[in-house]
Amino acid sequence: AMDETNLRAQATIDLAALRSNVAALRARAPRSGLMAVVKADAYGHGMVPCARAALEAGAGWLGAATPEEALALRAAGITAPVLCWLWTPGGPWRAAVEADLDVTVSALWALREVSEAAAAAGRTARVQLKADTGLGRNGAQPAEWPDLVAAARAAEAAGLVKVTGLWSHFACADEPGHPSIAAQLAVFRTALETAERAGLRPEVRHMANSPATLTLPEAHFDLVRTGVAMYGISPVPQVGGPAEFGLRPVMTLSARLASAKRVPGGHGVSYGHHYTTPGETTLALVPVGYADGVPRHASGTGPVLVAGKWRTVAGRVAMDQFVVDLGGDSADAGDEAVLFGPGDRGEPTAEDWARAAGTIAYEIVTRIGTRVPRVYV
Ligand code: PLP
Repeated sequence: AMDETNLRAQATIDLAALRSNVAALRARAPRSGLMAVVKADAYGHGMVPCARAALEAGAGWLGAATPEEALALRAAGITAPVLCWLWTPGGPWRAAVEADLDVTVSALWALREVSEAAAAAGRTARVQLKADTGLGRNGAQPAEWPDLVAAARAAEAAGLVKVTGLWSHFACADEPGHPSIAAQLAVFRTALETAERAGLRPEVRHMANSPATLTLPEAHFDLVRTGVAMYGISPVPQVGGPAEFGLRPVMTLSARLASAKRVPGGHGVSYGHHYTTPGETTLALVPVGYADGVPRHASGTGPVLVAGKWRTVAGRVAMDQFVVDLGGDSADAGDEAVLFGPGDRGEPTAEDWARAAGTIAYEIVTRIGTRVPRVYV
């Protein structure tokens, strides 16, 4: 597709790969439903197209962080169940109730706000209670859980809410065998028992993110909430790459060289002159930079495929561009440079960029900027 366009840069999104990943993940958790986590613009892949593709491939739920994301799914005409979990006081509870979103409640203030919105709307709000089983972010602490459960039960009796789910989130699922994993599961099971004894009858109980979906069947419960693995990135690269889990990377980031020119030896390159040409050479200019999500921390380390060979970012990544040294090889303006992709054409992967930048592949794809068009194939 790249050859038929003259885009400066593009993120090619392979929706067939995404659908295949959803099928692979469903096969990993055959007795559970699948929630496709599409927050943060589907980890940079484009929220609505990815949500639709995931639903086509058998996802039964969508997951978003903010209510604004969840409302945008409804505005796009998506009617599947949607859970959102990151609320602040005064948030758009009424719009969420009217849009039939599942809202997450971790504290009494949130239960109060959603109950008021439900009363004002004349509707029953779909509420999922979140337990903090050890991550230390949102969720009711074990000591607060019985009170939250009792208050939710009372709001159910008043017809204001229906508790549709009970859930929690792991801290260290990407480190199989970490002692916190078993500890969190035990706290979650106790929280479920407490809720059920209080009379709550949720539709779904869930805890597993991508790493738990792939490595921890006892955490699958009724639903698995998969994000990164659905985009074809291994959440446990130390255990195996995407192929080992039957996953195909969805995003390819490519650009077209803005220039390729001969320069003499001893020529400084990019801000700060942190690279100097070792001899006469060809410098190619790749027209994407940190404004496009190319990490500045990958200055001097980030890998790029140009004319069949891996090259390394020469000097600093700038806001809009960076340079690679092609040595004795030649290239022309307009030639393709592939920063990352599935790796099956010899290009680097998002995981390679994560290593080069000292981060995780989640961050590499999620930060690809809005200036880079997503091209769906
Ligand atoms: N569930 C919740 C609550 C999340 O915040 C996230 C993302 O961090 C996920 C599931 C998906 O995680 P992953 O991308 O590791 O599958």
